[in-house]
Amino acid sequence: MRRALVIGGSLGGLLVAHLLRSVGWDAVVFERNADELASRGVGLGTHPQLIAILQRAGIAFDATMGITPPRGVCLDHAGKIVVEQPMKRTLSGWSRLYRASRDALPPANYRLGKALTRVERDGEVVTAVFTDGARERGDLLVGADGVRSTVRAQFLPHVEPAYAGYVAWRAVLDEAEVPPALWREMVDLYAFCLPEGEQCISYAVPGRDNETAVGRRAYNIVWYRPADRAALRDILTDAMGRHHAGGIPPPLIRPDVIARVKADAGSILAPQIAEIFARTAPFFQPIYDLISPQIVFGRVALAGDAAFVARPHAGAGTTKAALDAACLADSIGDTGGDLDAGLARYQRRQQPFGKALVELNRDEGAYLSAQIKPKAERRGAELDRDLGAVLHAHIARSDQVGGIVAAYGLAALCGA
Ligand SMILES: Cc1cc2nc3c(=O)[nH]c(=O)nc-3n(C[C@H](O)[C@H](O)[C@H](O)COP(=O)(O)OP(=O)(O)OC[C@H]3O[C@@H](n4cnc5c(N)ncnc54)[C@H](O)[C@@H]3O)c2cc1C
Repeated sequence: MRRALVIGGSLGGLLVAHLLRSVGWDAVVFERNADELASRGVGLGTHPQLIAILQRAGIAFDATMGITPPRGVCLDHAGKIVVEQPMKRTLSGWSRLYRASRDALPPANYRLGKALTRVERDGEVVTAVFTDGARERGDLLVGADGVRSTVRAQFLPHVEPAYAGYVAWRAVLDEAEVPPALWREMVDLYAFCLPEGEQCISYAVPGRDNETAVGRRAYNIVWYRPADRAALRDILTDAMGRHHAGGIPPPLIRPDVIARVKADAGSILAPQIAEIFARTAPFFQPIYDLISPQIVFGRVALAGDAAFVARPHAGAGTTKAALDAACLADSIGDTGGDLDAGLARYQRRQQPFGKALVELNRDEGAYLSAQIKPKAERRGAELDRDLGAVLHAHIARSDQVGGIVAAYGLAALCGA
């Protein structure tokens, strides 16, 4: 049986392992963290394509996987609904999908505490070398090791994530900690708030223990805020003066940074959102774009965020990782054992699709990126914001993901 070494044990790596196993491969995941990753509990938008691929991988997507608010609304500064639109999008949680994908993989196929340092290639054999000195041999190595991919850095040393000029503040609060009247007001809303130059989206998601039952859910906030390089450097610096260029662990974010963002929430967000935000321990992620010109290097392939990082506006990062996994498995499976032909097929199909998805999300983020430019340099469209148009375009953008999947001939991957 052919053996794949999958580097990175988040959603991208897990889905690659499941789908390669479904076409007859042995696939082993190597994750650098020593502990289970399940604590990364933030909200995650889904698409029908993601749900279809999860089902292909044998992971049932039932009512407990997410919450589907019936209305998208825009709240003004006073908290009044000023624009409203019906919508149908299931919001899940990273840890909900992780748990379901992780539990479905045999424990022996998922190794924690294995950080890759480099890849060695020798003809048809590929070897992963880990920081503990261990070496693993396989027929294929898949780098699903995220935005700061070690695998990509080795094969594409000049391709780096480009900072988009803004960060996403993220916060989650258990349903039990949200005042009941406020919960009732917000639970059925996909709520948008558009302070000048910023964008905040919030919605209910499965709770800490992945529950969607009444009383066990949670409320999720994503708040995009411009930050030029100096401001980013400041918030990435901890209380000891250490700068965390690759992302600051949430417990190290300085108390003064947290106090400032909470004070800003109180003055510029709708009061309902600000009240919830004030009760959370928020953290932030800088937003990046990344397009890899090549995603196959002999018997090494990139997938998920290691290959492309799309800004999160269409909430399609996990959907794209799932499509990568399905495309890789099908490309290899369809070429009757000719692995090189299968990998060439994966490169041909998935690279242009990944690029298109990055560009779709860049469009929505253009307004946010423009905020760190002098006002005179901002294009008219980036200054003029009609609330109804912004909400409509945002909801439509999520549906456009399906259009791109179809346009690039990938619909069959999702059983369509
Ligand atoms: C603000 C924000 C909001 C988002 N919202 C959504 C959303 O609504 N919907 C959605 O679908 N997506 C969303 N995403 C994107 C989504 O999180 C990712 O695209 C998706 O999880 C796929 O990630 P991945 O598995 O490829 O990489 P990651 O999740 O980054 O995982 C990479 C894994 O590799 C491991 N690793 C790294 N280096 C090594 C190494 N050297 N050796 C071994 N292991 C290693 C890491 O520890 C990590 O576990 C959002 C992203 C952001 C920043």
